[in-house]
Amino acid sequence: MPRGDGKLNHDLLPTDPDGKGPQDACGVFGVWAPGEEVANLTYFGLYALQHRGQESAGIAVSDGKKILVYKDMGLVSQVFNESNLASLRGDIAIGHARYSTTGASVWENAQPTFRSTAVGSIALAHNGNLTNTGDLAQLVEKAQAASGEIEFAHRPLRSTSDTDLVTSLLASHPDRSLESAAVEVLKHVEGAFSFVFMDENTLYAARDRYGVRPLALGKLERGWVIASETAALDIVGASYVREIEPGELLAIDENGPRSSRFAEPKPRFCSFEFVYLARPDSNLDGRSVHATRVAVGRQLAREAPADADLVMPTPDSGTPAAIGYAEESGIPYAAGLVKNAYVGRTFIQPSQTLRQLGIRLKLNPLRDVIRGKRLVVVDDSIVRGNTQRAVVRMLREAGATEVHVRISSPPVKWPCFYGIDFATRAELIANGLSVEEIRNSLGADSLAYVSLDGLVEATGRPKGNLCRACFDGEYPTEVPDAHLMGRQLGEVTSVQSLISTVPSAGAADALDRP
Ligand code: SF4
Repeated sequence: MPRGDGKLNHDLLPTDPDGKGPQDACGVFGVWAPGEEVANLTYFGLYALQHRGQESAGIAVSDGKKILVYKDMGLVSQVFNESNLASLRGDIAIGHARYSTTGASVWENAQPTFRSTAVGSIALAHNGNLTNTGDLAQLVEKAQAASGEIEFAHRPLRSTSDTDLVTSLLASHPDRSLESAAVEVLKHVEGAFSFVFMDENTLYAARDRYGVRPLALGKLERGWVIASETAALDIVGASYVREIEPGELLAIDENGPRSSRFAEPKPRFCSFEFVYLARPDSNLDGRSVHATRVAVGRQLAREAPADADLVMPTPDSGTPAAIGYAEESGIPYAAGLVKNAYVGRTFIQPSQTLRQLGIRLKLNPLRDVIRGKRLVVVDDSIVRGNTQRAVVRMLREAGATEVHVRISSPPVKWPCFYGIDFATRAELIANGLSVEEIRNSLGADSLAYVSLDGLVEATGRPKGNLCRACFDGEYPTEVPDAHLMGRQLGEVTSVQSLISTVPSAGAADALDRP
């Protein structure tokens, strides 16, 4: 397994832990296409999914005899180059762009994970977060003890990620095909998972029974593609076929795709994918993310009108909802803030002088547009409130006479255990403060959120088919109490605890928002 020489330290963490918005939890990609440059296709697929994870990237390739994995810390474009991609030759590939919600942010936890067995090997990539890691660790120990690896129980796992446990479980059935082992193992896995995995000859995709995270199947002229989002299908020239169904295992080999079920589907798709996580040019189950965000903005204008001169977004994530708000209200739309798209992608810590410039490292106001105007500023969500507080201050300094903040999601009051690292409950500004208290804290003239029912209606899905837990606390799975206290379980370390060791960046908020 080739290994690059990259290493992770806090220099590689986002530049401002305090101002961070919701962090995505990985993008996955898989391709079965003999005769094609599968590693290059996977590279471009991961490039399209970079917004879902920027800590590490990896690709595994099989040539039918062996699996080769290359992974390292950093962005897709930092990890891969022509030379290492050229060494990854084969017919099947999977890839992963990672943001860690369980497991330390270290090379060992970068994905795809890899295991060799007596009869072959497995590589696996995961988007989501599992909620029964303790149970899975016990299953791994039992399986290894039963197969004669008695010392296994006393040996630490190579990595600390939930994904590694599943890979170990899949590898603990050498007497069965990987397909049959997966149907059995996946029954025991709880939480959110969109997996792509492979042995030497077959590509697999699986989605948890709730279908929390997206996963789509696409068709190439001479092969098949699996991707977290349809934007990644577009970029490699694949046509969309369908979603991987909740509770479905799909296997793809020379006979084409074949489907089996490991769990009864209970769809609870993540509503926050529509709000913020997915790319606007992706479709989720056939529904345009951009169109949904515009519809939420229209709903927001109906629910929370404002007397104002201009509607503007906090770029880029507030843009579609701001367009919808402007269309519905008849108030002119204007871009009043210019975003430096690359600041959040740098791993260089800003100096103290630059930190004092705060949000200006990322956003700069167009004073001519703003001066003397009453503004409606639309953003997708408020997590800690640091970003919005800085934006309001910046707009006032640029000459705005009024700033009315409108948010295209309901208040985020609960943590997510399914792959999105919002914050601990105590850090969420809407947990404990009323809307009026939050308005006061932001320094805005008015503040309003779209209602949960309004958001649900814009998605076009029945409320019962959506996870809304970060808004209403109704989790689709059992969540251990320790989680509700904002802690991760057992030996698994959250990246949140890592970044909490980084000195506060003070006013330099919102630098790392993807
Ligand atoms: Fe999505 Fe929120 Fe549910 Fe997490 S808790 S899966 S972010 S809706």
